Amino acid sequence: MFWADKIAGEMQGHQVINDSKTPSGRVHIGSVRGVIIHDIIYRALKRANQPVKFIYGVDDYDALDTIPKYLDSTKFSPYLGFPLCNVPSPDDLASDYANYFMDEFLEVFQYLGVTPEVYHVRDLYRKGRLNPFIDTFLQNAHLVRSVYKEVSKADRPDNWYPFQVICEQCGKIATTVVTNYNGEEVFYHCKPDGNDWVNGCGYTGWVSPFNGNGKLPWKLEWVAKWGLFGVSVELAGKDHSQKGGSRDVANALCRNILKKKPPFHSPYEFILVNGTKMSSSKGIGSSAKEIADLLPPELMRFLLLRTQPRSGINFSLNYDAIVRLFRDYDGLIEKYHTWEATRTDGDLPEELLPLLYAQTGATVETYQPFDFSTLISLEQIPHLQTHAEIVKRSKPLNEVDWKVLTGRIAVARKWLAGYADEDEKLVLQLDAIPEQVKEISSIQVEYLKKLTGTLEFIPSWDSETIQATLFSTSKQMDIDQAAAFKAVYLSFLGKDRGPRCGALLSYLDQDFVIARLNAVIHLRISEVI
Ligand SMILES: [Zn+2]
Repeated sequence: MFWADKIAGEMQGHQVINDSKTPSGRVHIGSVRGVIIHDIIYRALKRANQPVKFIYGVDDYDALDTIPKYLDSTKFSPYLGFPLCNVPSPDDLASDYANYFMDEFLEVFQYLGVTPEVYHVRDLYRKGRLNPFIDTFLQNAHLVRSVYKEVSKADRPDNWYPFQVICEQCGKIATTVVTNYNGEEVFYHCKPDGNDWVNGCGYTGWVSPFNGNGKLPWKLEWVAKWGLFGVSVELAGKDHSQKGGSRDVANALCRNILKKKPPFHSPYEFILVNGTKMSSSKGIGSSAKEIADLLPPELMRFLLLRTQPRSGINFSLNYDAIVRLFRDYDGLIEKYHTWEATRTDGDLPEELLPLLYAQTGATVETYQPFDFSTLISLEQIPHLQTHAEIVKRSKPLNEVDWKVLTGRIAVARKWLAGYADEDEKLVLQLDAIPEQVKEISSIQVEYLKKLTGTLEFIPSWDSETIQATLFSTSKQMDIDQAAAFKAVYLSFLGKDRGPRCGALLSYLDQDFVIARLNAVIHLRISEVI
């Protein structure tokens, strides 16, 4: 059973799914995993006709605790320790710092077809919606302290209260400590030796903890949101899910103080970003926005959902990874075509569920697939019109085919410009024989001779026929297949390997291919003699 349907199958009655994000900087692709996991569970519940709501919190009352290196630290360092929504925006467009980064992330949501009801934590505080929870936790500060001690072995002094005031004098929230509560006001101190990254102003005073004057520590804020919205499903990354970790603490607070059952939980693994390519000198990184700028939404969803949450995703956009991603997706499209043509009932086979859940809409949009590695090759052949070449060689294209094809060509271009390493590029050497042909051995020369003779009389100059000829010739000659293909790649690319060979040659002129192979054979024979 697909992982999300399994989770959905265990649930009864109305469900409220919650997820959230602190908008402290550019959002990494890893944060999209949680979003997609929750969205898929939401869709699985809907598919099972279960009543369900999906909400998403912007944790914008959290403090600015570091200044991302892409921002001007002189401008932002005075705001360290401020609630994110009280820090100015890096540009003139957004209302504040939190919205600046969240707007970018919400654009990615929209792109991916993820449509939760978004709420801002600043509004919950300022409109007083969390007042009852603040009061409960402050009244039960002794219970909060004992949960911290029992579950996470964290010892708090007897006069520690679970609340942080926004200092009335300096505006910081990260430096204040509350040491008393009289039922209406808290007593706080903005500590000059606040913590190891920011210092307070020394102010002390009594103030109401309600209506936005401060916030709960985040584990309690989490629990307050569960209570306020009746959250029943919320998964968390494995960093929060260790034994005695923040989720355990939150669950215990929920049970012991709110007397409620905590939401369904299952930890999910991280996304590991592979190697240096993701943060290359070209300035292309691994922010959610950047990946959304490269991949079509259904491919980005597919990438994140096909691995079940408890397994890590090793994220990479090198040649092999991106070609495999498109190939796997297109493979499911082919299978979907077959299923549609021969279907007997309405149930989608399990292996096609990732395809269904990858869609931004409710139905699978099918099209005539085009091999992505071939598109990457075509884009690198000078003077060649990729569109025209594809049209010449495929069945007539409908409107959707065109749309998909145009999108894929754009991906290939962006990938070549921003992500491809030099050794992943094709560099077709049309004007002169690559000097690397000197690596071609005499047995490989014999292969090329035989191949050239056959290619001259090939019945059709298309990818499949050429590929079949390359294979059958290597068999007849009893030459290792890898060595055979290497001789061809060296002759055109000056490299050991390349894209699907039959496809590559099919897009070149037949006379040119034969002339080049003959020239290579001639050169190698003359050099050996
Ligand atoms: Zn202060």
